[in-house]
Amino acid sequence: MGVTAAGPSRNAIRPSRSEQFDAVIVGASLAGSAAAVKLGRAGARVALVEQRPDPGAFKQVCSHFVQASAVPTLERLGLLQPALDAGAVRSGLRIWTIYGWIVAPPERATPGLNLRRELLDPLVRDAALNTPGVEARLGLTATALERDGADGRVRGVVVRDRSGEERLLQARLVVGADGRGSRVAKLAGVATKTTPHGRFAYGGYFEGADLPHAPDAQLWMLNPQWAAAFPTDAGLTFYAAMPTKSWLPRFKRDPHAALVAFLRDLPEPPPIEHGRLVGEIKGKLEMPNVEHEPIGPGLALVGDAALATDPLWGIGCGWALQQGEWLGDAVGDALAAGPGADDALDAGLARYRRRWRRGLLGHQRVIADLASGRRANAGERFVFSAAVHDERIAARMDAFGSRSISPNRFLATAVPRAVWVHGREARARRAQRQAAGSAGSAGGAGSAGGAGRGAVTA
Ligand SMILES: Cc1cc2nc3c(=O)[nH]c(=O)nc-3n(C[C@H](O)[C@H](O)[C@H](O)COP(=O)(O)OP(=O)(O)OC[C@H]3O[C@@H](n4cnc5c(N)ncnc54)[C@H](O)[C@@H]3O)c2cc1C
Repeated sequence: MGVTAAGPSRNAIRPSRSEQFDAVIVGASLAGSAAAVKLGRAGARVALVEQRPDPGAFKQVCSHFVQASAVPTLERLGLLQPALDAGAVRSGLRIWTIYGWIVAPPERATPGLNLRRELLDPLVRDAALNTPGVEARLGLTATALERDGADGRVRGVVVRDRSGEERLLQARLVVGADGRGSRVAKLAGVATKTTPHGRFAYGGYFEGADLPHAPDAQLWMLNPQWAAAFPTDAGLTFYAAMPTKSWLPRFKRDPHAALVAFLRDLPEPPPIEHGRLVGEIKGKLEMPNVEHEPIGPGLALVGDAALATDPLWGIGCGWALQQGEWLGDAVGDALAAGPGADDALDAGLARYRRRWRRGLLGHQRVIADLASGRRANAGERFVFSAAVHDERIAARMDAFGSRSISPNRFLATAVPRAVWVHGREARARRAQRQAAGSAGSAGGAGSAGGAGRGAVTA
C-alpha cells in the first residue's frame, strides 16, 4: 500500500513513530467523546486525540443548554445521573413573543438540561477515557491525514506534540470531531456548504439574578432581536443576547453594561440588574452555518465538524452528542470485527450518513434560513400568535424547538391547528362585538370590545 499524507505535511518525511488503532478520533469534546464511548463499548480500539493537554479542558464560548432531544443520548451514555449529581438543572422553555408567552403545559413539555461546560465537558471526556479500549492522546494536534495512495482512502492521522515531534496514528477510520472550522474536514477536502449568519453573541453567568419561573429557561424572540436566560448548576443563571450586527458597536464598547442593558430593557425583563457577574462576559462575532459531507472513504465527521449550526437555537451540544452516538452505533461492530472488513465499515458509514441527514438536515434548512437575522414571516407569525392561545401548538413548538420532531411533522400538525385556533378566536371576537353592539343599542354607548393583550393578530 502506497501511503501519502494529505495536507500541510504532504511532502514531509513520514513520522518515524506510528501506532495502530481501529479508529482515531480527533477532538475530545462532546462529539468525539460520545463517539469514543460507543466505539469502545462495541469492542474497538480507539485513540482519542485532543490538542489541549488538560483532561479538564472545556469549551469557553457556549451557552451550554442541552436540548431535550439529546437527553436520551446522555442517558444511554450513562451520563444523565452523573450530570444531575454534578448539579445539572432540567429546564423547560418559556418563549416570549409579541403575542404573549408560548409555554408548553408541563405534562407535555420536554425538558432539556443545563450544566456549565466546565462541568459537562470533563464529565463526557472522563466517560470516554474510562471506557475499555479508548486510549487518551491528549496534547496532540492533528496536522495531516494519511491516505492510501491507490484510492485516496484515509488510513490515519499525523499528530504533533507540543515539542513539535510528529507521529502517525494509523486507523481504519479517522473521525473528525474537531469542532467549528474543522481541520480534519479541510484536510479531507469534503464538500462544504456555508450560509451566512447575521448576528453576534455575548453572554455570562450571574448569581443572585434568579428567573421567576426557574428552573425553566426563557427566550425572548423580539423579532428579530433575541435574548435568553438559562438557570443552571451552582445557583447561576446564564444570560445571553444574540442581536443583529447593527448592535455590535455598543457591545464591543462595554460587553457587560451592554448585556445588562439589553436584558433589562426586555419586555417582562429578568432580574439581571440584581445579579452579580461570575467570571467574564464572553462573545462570538462570526458564526456562519457550515455543513460538511459527513463521510468519506475511511473518514467520518461528527458534531460541529460535520455541521456547525447557528447557536441561536441551542442545539449544537445535543447534536454533537447524538452524532457521536449515531456514528458509534453505525460502525462499531465493523470496526470491532478487525482489519479487512472495509466493505462492512463503508456500509456502516453509509448508515451513519443516512441517519445524520434524516435527523439534522430538515432542521438545518430552517435554521440556516432564519440565521440572517430576518424578521418572522407571515406563516411564522400565524403559528406563534396561535400558540400563545393553545397548549397543543405550544407543545408542538416545544417538541420542534428541542428538535425532537421533524419540521414536516411540526408543520403537518401545527398549521391546521393554528387555522382552527385563529377561526375560534375570530368567532369569539365577533361574538364579543355583537354582544357589545346589542348592549350599546339597548343601553347607550358601549366599548369596541377589543380582545386585549395577546389577541390573535397574525
Ligand atoms: C456563542 C455560542 C453559544 C452556544 N450555545 C449553545 C447552547 O446553548 N446549546 C448548544 O447545544 N450548543 C451551543 N453552542 C454550540 C456548541 O458549543 C457546539 O455545537 C458544541 O461545542 C460542538 O461540540 P463538538 O464536540 O462538535 O466540538 P467542540 O466542542 O468545538 O470541540 C472540538 C474539540 O476538538 C479539539 N480540536 C480542534 N482541532 C484539533 C486538532 N487539529 N487536533 C486535536 N484536537 C483538535 C478542540 O480542542 C476541542 O476540544 C454554542 C456555540 C456558540 C459559539
